[in-house]
Formats: sequence, structure tokens, C-alpha cells
Amino acid sequence: MRVAVIIPAAGTGRRMHQATPKQYLCLGGRPILAHTLEVFENLPEINEITVVAQTKALEFCQNQIITPFGFKKVLRLVPGGKERQDSVYNAIKALQRQDDYDLIVVHDGVRPFVTPEEVRRVIGAALEHGAAILAMPANDTVKKVNRTGRIQKTLNRQDIWLAQTPQAFQAPIIWRAFVEAYGRDFYGTDEASLVEAIGIPVFAIPGSVYNIKVTTPEDLVLAEAILAFRQQSRTTTRDRKAQP
Ligand code: C5P
Repeated sequence: MRVAVIIPAAGTGRRMHQATPKQYLCLGGRPILAHTLEVFENLPEINEITVVAQTKALEFCQNQIITPFGFKKVLRLVPGGKERQDSVYNAIKALQRQDDYDLIVVHDGVRPFVTPEEVRRVIGAALEHGAAILAMPANDTVKKVNRTGRIQKTLNRQDIWLAQTPQAFQAPIIWRAFVEAYGRDFYGTDEASLVEAIGIPVFAIPGSVYNIKVTTPEDLVLAEAILAFRQQSRTTTRDRKAQP
């Protein structure tokens, strides 16, 4: 089985209000993108990674992240596009041939806390069903609100899930979904919506609240806390094991 991963990391990070895009900000002394790449580099199920970076950041990404952190599975670094979808499409087009791969997995460069177990579960579901994503059932009551702030509708919470990444697809499915989306000038905010649009079922696998997308300055505070919590739990487990 051959699994290719695409990491879109070509956003400008407007909502972070910082000159440095969020994927290059440091978390525990290492760039967020390096944390994300490490998860996939260390997973034996993953064969290769394509990173998408802004054209002006390609050199930075190679020289400050991919080379120094020794990410050997990163075989391609491609320039991003205007929208996230354009960035992912650039990566899809850069993969040689669709029949070289069984699965294509897309994961946001700014979601550093995905676990190997979560990636494995999404891969397993995509192998079985064709298309699967990590998502969280909504805890809050969800309202549809118009531009004036007036609530239009309360949605049924049981039916609402919040999409995360990774999103994994059998290669011919994602290829067709992208070709057809561009054929109709359809833009979605994730890959699953393109696959849904061609009538192929996509399955949601329960994710974790820790798998946050680092988007705003508040997310960075949360991210530092999650990292500290993870490091502490690792130390506690190690200490417990070390006891006689
Ligand atoms: O913009 P959004 O929060 O959806 O970004 C999710 C991921 O997609 C980020 O890792 C970001 O860098 C990436 N992205 C991209 N190309 C764009 C916009 C976002 O690769 N044009």
C-alpha cells in the first residue's frame, strides 16, 4: 500500500495578526509546521509527504524546517495558491500518477496535535469506505445567524460535527473530486466537501478536542497549554513505568 500525505501550509495567517505566518511560529521552541510534519515522518504507514508553502516562503520552508529537522519523507515542496483548495490542488497535480498511490491524506500544516492513532483510524476508514475525515461532534448548540446577527434557525446538535483534518481518500476519488470541482468552479473549505459534491459518501471518525487548528493568537495560548500537558503526561507515564 502506498500512502501520500499533502500538508497545505501556504496560508498567510491574516487572523494571527503577526508578520510571520502561523505555521512558522514557534511552539515549545519549534515551528508549528515541524511539529505537524514529525507526526507523519514517524508513522510507518506513510510513504511520502508533499508540503505546500507560499511561493515567497519556499526557500525558508526548505532551509529552516525540512532540511534542519531531517524530514526524509518530504519528497516535494510546491508553491501554494490563492485559496486552500488551490494549494491542495497544486500538490495533487505534483504527484506523478494517481495509480502510484492507494490513499491520499490531507492534513493542515497548523494542526500539530494530531496523534498517530487518529491518523491510523482515518486511513483505515478511507481504505474501507473510500473517503473519511476526522471530526468532532458538536457540544454547543449551533445557530444559523444572518448578517444582522439575527438567529434564523437552531440546528439539531445531534447532526452537527465539526470537520478537522486528516482527511483521507482513495486516490481516484480525490482526483475526480478536484477535477470536477474546478470544472464547475466549485470551492469548498475542505477536501471532503468536494468529494461530497460528486455524490461519494464520506465518513466522519470522532477526533479529539486537542487537534486544534492554530488560527488566532488565542489558539497559540491553547496550543502551548496542550503541548505542556502532553509533555507532562509523557513524563508521568515514564516515571510510573520506572517505578519498581
Ligand atoms: O485558512 P485555513 O485556516 O483553512 O488554513 C488551513 C491550512 O491551509 C493552513 O495550514 C494554511 O497554511 C493552509 N492554506 C494553504 N493555502 C492557502 C490558504 C491556507 O495552504 N491559500
